[in-house]
Amino acid sequence: MPLVLVTSDRFADHITPPGHPERVERAEAMQVVASRWERAGGRILAPRRASDDELARVHDAAYLKTVKETRGRATTLDPDTFTSPDSEDVARSAAGAMLTAVDHVLDGPPRSRAFVMVRPPGHHAEADRAMGFCLYNTIAVGAAGARARGLSRVAIVDYDVHHGNGTQWIFYEDPAVLFVSSHQYPYYPGTGAATELGRGEGKGFTVNLPMEVGATDIDYDLVYREAVVPVLEGFRPQLLLVSAGFDAHERDPLAGMRMTTDGFGGLTSRLVAAADTLCDGRVVFVTEGGYDTSALAECCQRVIDVCSAESVAAPPELSGDSRRGQDTLAGYRAARR
Ligand SMILES: [Zn+2]
Repeated sequence: MPLVLVTSDRFADHITPPGHPERVERAEAMQVVASRWERAGGRILAPRRASDDELARVHDAAYLKTVKETRGRATTLDPDTFTSPDSEDVARSAAGAMLTAVDHVLDGPPRSRAFVMVRPPGHHAEADRAMGFCLYNTIAVGAAGARARGLSRVAIVDYDVHHGNGTQWIFYEDPAVLFVSSHQYPYYPGTGAATELGRGEGKGFTVNLPMEVGATDIDYDLVYREAVVPVLEGFRPQLLLVSAGFDAHERDPLAGMRMTTDGFGGLTSRLVAAADTLCDGRVVFVTEGGYDTSALAECCQRVIDVCSAESVAAPPELSGDSRRGQDTLAGYRAARR
C-alpha cells in the first residue's frame, strides 16, 4: 500500500471558544476517517513532536517563546487564534506529524505517500506571529525539514480557499522552495495577488492564482491543468507537499466557492499524477481548513482513496463554463510577462 496516514486522537485536545469554526469536532471527523482506514488494514504512523530547533527553522525565537508561554493556559494570540492548556503541545505534534510524514516518504520506496490529518491548521502562521487559527506553520516546518535532509527543490501547493500567507512569506526569498497557491480573492487574509511573485533569489518561486468567489470544479480544473502542473514541471521538485484545505467546498460555512468532493478528488489526482511523474511519487498531503465537518470527512476520504492506488492517472479534463478560471489564468500570465 503506497499510503500511510499520520494522525492521532491528540488533535482533539486543542480547544477553541464556543462557536469557533476551527473546533474539536473537526478532529473527531478525521478520527472517524482514520478508524475506517485502520479497520481496512491501512497503516497509521503516530506523530512525533517537533523540536525547538525544527520549529526554529521557520519561526523566530521570540515567537516560539511567546507560544511556549501559553502552555497550561487559555490565551488569545490573535483576534481569531486562541489557545487552551494543551494547544502548544498539540500544534507541536501537528508540525512533528509533518516531519514524520516527510521522513517516511523520503526513506521509503518510490510512490511513498503520506496524508497528515491534524489540527490546528498551519499555513497562516508567519515567522513571528500566530494568525487565522494557526500557531505553528506545519507545512513550512515539513519543507524546512526536507531541506535540512539535503533536498534542494521542494514544492508546496496550497488549495485551501485562503491564501497561505505564512508559507509564502517564510519562503519568499528562497528559490529552493516553490510555493503555489490558489485561493478566493479578495478574501482573508488579504494577500495573494498574482503580482506577488517572490523576492530576490526567490523571485518567480512564488505563484499566486487568485480566484473570484463562486469558482467551481471546472474553474479549478482549468487552473490546475494550465498553471499549477506546468509550473511544477518547470521546477522539477524532489518532493511535493500539499496544503489540503477543503474550505473551497460548496458546503463550507466560511468561504464562497462551489467546489464539490469530486472536484477535490480531481485536484488531488492531478497532483498525485504529477508527483508520480516528477518526483517518484513522493507526496505529503496535510489538512488545513475545512469547516463543514461532513465535507471535511468526505474530502479526507477522497484523498485517501486517490493516494491508495498504486498508479494514479491525471483525471479527464472537465468542460463547461470556466470564465472564472480563465480570468485567473489571464491574471497569472499578465503578472509573469
Ligand atoms: Zn482556509
